[in-house]
Amino acid sequence: MLDVKKCAVLVAAVLIFCILSSCGKAEESASEDTLVIAATTYPVFCFAEAVTEGVEGVEVKQIVTDSVSCLHDYTLTVSNMRIIAEADVIALSGAGLEDFMDDALASSQADVIDCSQNITLLPGTEEGEEYDPHIWLDPDRAAQMVENLSTRMEEIDPEHADAYRKNGEETAEAYRGLGDTLRQTLQTLSCRDLITFHNGFSYFAQAFDLNILCSIEEEEGSEASAEDINNIIGLVRQYQLSAIFCEVNGSDATAQAIARETGTSVFQLATLMSVPEDWGLEGYEDLLTHDVEVVQLALGGAQDEQ
Ligand SMILES: [Zn+2]
Repeated sequence: MLDVKKCAVLVAAVLIFCILSSCGKAEESASEDTLVIAATTYPVFCFAEAVTEGVEGVEVKQIVTDSVSCLHDYTLTVSNMRIIAEADVIALSGAGLEDFMDDALASSQADVIDCSQNITLLPGTEEGEEYDPHIWLDPDRAAQMVENLSTRMEEIDPEHADAYRKNGEETAEAYRGLGDTLRQTLQTLSCRDLITFHNGFSYFAQAFDLNILCSIEEEEGSEASAEDINNIIGLVRQYQLSAIFCEVNGSDATAQAIARETGTSVFQLATLMSVPEDWGLEGYEDLLTHDVEVVQLALGGAQDEQ
């Protein structure tokens, strides 16, 4: 059966062929001797920027820049495909996050870096998902992603191997240090139980010793049923949660309904896929810190109020 998804993939393949063969070869793109690295997500873009810092002749681009909460069921746009077609290196977050671009990758000549290589993965939480792909939300795993990226860049562009190695080591160390600092921040939380919007925070919870009770949206794009909502209301009361979480670029309608019913507050976490400009935050470290501070604000104050 030719379902909608397969159709979209087919159209994508034809488009990318078109871009590669004739219509798209953008004249204005980087000069011939620039090494273009295309990162699929914002976190991987940050990792690639850090690893290539100070290296001349390298340009890092971000493939998906739309305001999405996550990439499940994402469909590549023409401009996404143009970036893929013109890339020398494509850096993936990995662990299944980019399954939607398998066909585009198959027709690309670029070197592909899978940043999830050799990282201990948690089992998938959504149907058809072998592993949970949200690895970047754990700073220690993010450090490993950076090391994977720098190791592969050393092979791909040996002329600048020393710079990639040094940048990779320094960045990985910084991320591990950040993890330690943020764990300190959350040490005194009075409640460690989380209800999140989508199933994206298992690694985050593991990194910071938090406990995910449930997700409001169990499957991407699915509405919580009346029964689901009742169950969540039950959990909020049972655990006396002072807050539940929605997500940047995700719907907060269900969370707000639960809040009205229980008197709990709603706070907003980011998967770091894309972040509102008015936050004035930039880079992996700032954004992860922001999430931790939100958790601290949402769950840490409960004791003082009693
Ligand atoms: Zn996700």
